[in-house]
Amino acid sequence: MQAFSYHTHTNSLGIFDGRNTPDEMMSKAESLGFTELGISNHLICKPGAYCWSSQNFDDFAKAETVYLKTIEEIREAAVRHKIKVYVGFEVDYYKSSDWRREFERLKNRLNVDYMIGSTHNLMNQDASWVQNIYHMTRSNIKVDEDTLRDGIKNYWLNVIESIKSGYFDFIAHLDVIKIFGLGLEPEWDEYKWMVIETLDKSKHPFELNTSGWTKAGEQHPHTWMLKELAKRDVPIVISDDAHSVDLLGRYFSEAENLLSELHYTNRWKFSK
Ligand SMILES: [Zn+2]
Ligand SMILES: [Zn+2]
Repeated sequence: MQAFSYHTHTNSLGIFDGRNTPDEMMSKAESLGFTELGISNHLICKPGAYCWSSQNFDDFAKAETVYLKTIEEIREAAVRHKIKVYVGFEVDYYKSSDWRREFERLKNRLNVDYMIGSTHNLMNQDASWVQNIYHMTRSNIKVDEDTLRDGIKNYWLNVIESIKSGYFDFIAHLDVIKIFGLGLEPEWDEYKWMVIETLDKSKHPFELNTSGWTKAGEQHPHTWMLKELAKRDVPIVISDDAHSVDLLGRYFSEAENLLSELHYTNRWKFSK
């Protein structure tokens, strides 16, 4: 069974949305017999964006000072543990050249071990309107039918662009919007096929995210997508997306069973 997770979150600096400290996450990972742990707090920064939580930034310079402190906190904790620790971020991707220029600069200055590409938002074509799906649902924000459809379309296109960007070690929860019942109609299948084809083209690693089992009744992505990606031999890694110690390694045996049923053998990890 996979004895590591690279997609986990902490409560660093009281800013990020994990529930535990890096020390607590590392101790729990060690007690589970994990050989490695990757900590990937959210990197969410977009000038002009509405900052609805403490981990959202609209200023790259301000964000950088916070990220540097988080990285330091995790690396300091890692010294006290035997487990091999990687420090990364789960990045909200945007395709505009302005965003990419700023992100590339930030990426160079942070000097972390890895980056995960993510999309958690509905958005319009140029991302001048961005709506986080968790915030939309929890705050009961109403979006009209046309905006919603366009938002879902651009969600998929953003996932595709994040794969093409080449910035990321792997791509998170391809169909995370399904936890809110979004993007489930057959009309979205053509976009899911585009995601599969884009991953296939560069054999880009992606994750089987087990948090979907609690939130959507199945893992991310859909089983049929996993089947297609297995056929195409696209590298896969299992992630728990643990926001607390209790969620580390959750549903890993179910994930392993599913992957062996699908004869999914191309498993991705840092050090082989
Ligand atoms: Zn995520
Ligand atoms: Zn996450």
